[in-house]
Amino acid sequence: MGSQPHIVIVGGSLAGLTLALACASRGIPVHVVERAAQRADGGDSLSVSLAAIAATTGHDPRVYPTLPVVPAYRDRHLTTWPALYAWLRGRALETAGIILDEGKMVASVHNLASGAELLFSDGTKMLADVVIGADGYHSVVRRAIAPEAPYARYAGYLVWRGLVEEQTLTRPVSWPSSGGLWIDFEEGYRLVAAVLPGRDGSLEIGRRQVTFAWFDAHREDLLRATSRLTRDGYLVGTLGRGSIDSDVRAELLEMVPKLWPKTWAEAVATGVQSTASLSGAPIAEYLPDKLAVGSLALVGDAAHVVSPMTGSGLATGVDDAMMLARILAARPAGEPAFKALLRYQAARLPYVRALVQHSRRLSAEYAQFALQD
Ligand SMILES: Cc1cc2nc3c(=O)[nH]c(=O)nc-3n(C[C@H](O)[C@H](O)[C@H](O)COP(=O)(O)OP(=O)(O)OC[C@H]3O[C@@H](n4cnc5c(N)ncnc54)[C@H](O)[C@@H]3O)c2cc1C
Repeated sequence: MGSQPHIVIVGGSLAGLTLALACASRGIPVHVVERAAQRADGGDSLSVSLAAIAATTGHDPRVYPTLPVVPAYRDRHLTTWPALYAWLRGRALETAGIILDEGKMVASVHNLASGAELLFSDGTKMLADVVIGADGYHSVVRRAIAPEAPYARYAGYLVWRGLVEEQTLTRPVSWPSSGGLWIDFEEGYRLVAAVLPGRDGSLEIGRRQVTFAWFDAHREDLLRATSRLTRDGYLVGTLGRGSIDSDVRAELLEMVPKLWPKTWAEAVATGVQSTASLSGAPIAEYLPDKLAVGSLALVGDAAHVVSPMTGSGLATGVDDAMMLARILAARPAGEPAFKALLRYQAARLPYVRALVQHSRRLSAEYAQFALQD
């Protein structure tokens, strides 16, 4: 490890852990700092490419310990956020070359003449050769890379999300485990629903989990009133589990039978009624002009934020990790690590900008349709 650069990854969620594994499996040690003591949740369902995860991380989620999934479409599978997070974290904990430092919040990062400095909220400091921000849509590292455009912009709608145990319903959902996503629009609202493996990975009918994402373009006032959305249209927070008022849940509950078919209605109603299940994810978009400056770079939602309608948020973070780790590993001997960051930016920026622009078109079409309906 003596001649290896000290690489710090800020954020130990899906993109940060994927990058850590991508680096470690290519012989590059990394130090991950994550503000949460251990992430409890960050979402519900995710469509994933198992082949891409295997190629990037060096661990195959199709081989024991496997990642519980159901087929989605073509080579994509559906899994749950908690299952993927637990799988990545488990692999990171057992992989040599990864330090996972949880419960440590970065307050700010700064480029130095050589390397970078991290300041933590407990007042301590750390020096690094390179700092990679994998710290999500509200990234602290992005603020140092793009101080002129630090925040992601609200895309005009939020997504009510829930993950419900099938056994809490009066009857199992009549949707096969191989059924992929169910998608429908009603009165300007959009519902995406699916069955997912149970918490124990079971695909047995009655023991699965049911996920829903209910798109709603009528919540700007709520987001402003709860200080999640700034006057200028920037998104600075989400509606986490336990934070949604009973009157909002009652309003949603009343709409369920009018909007959604019997197959999903009970699961959606159960999720909406449960404070522990329902969350509201305001959808943001961030179009980057830069992915790296000096000794700092970005991956995942810190780098680019897109609508879930693209189905590509996480997948793009996995590709970022693959590319950055490969470029770092292929550095000429003796080259300082920060020089590789500009090659990463040159290789990655055109694709991620095109994706965010595509996302903006999808969002604008949806928001326009939803508000005129
Ligand atoms: C409704 C919805 C559905 C989606 N569906 C899909 C899908 O089907 N397929 C897909 O590919 N993508 C999907 N996405 C997108 C996907 O969920 C995200 O792209 C992905 O989870 C982002 O992961 P991340 O690790 O980049 O960021 P995050 O999950 O936001 O993680 C950031 C991490 O950084 C930590 N952190 C933040 N600030 C600090 C700090 N100052 N100090 C230390 N740590 C810090 C946080 O605690 C967190 O652990 C969906 C998103 C939504 C909202």
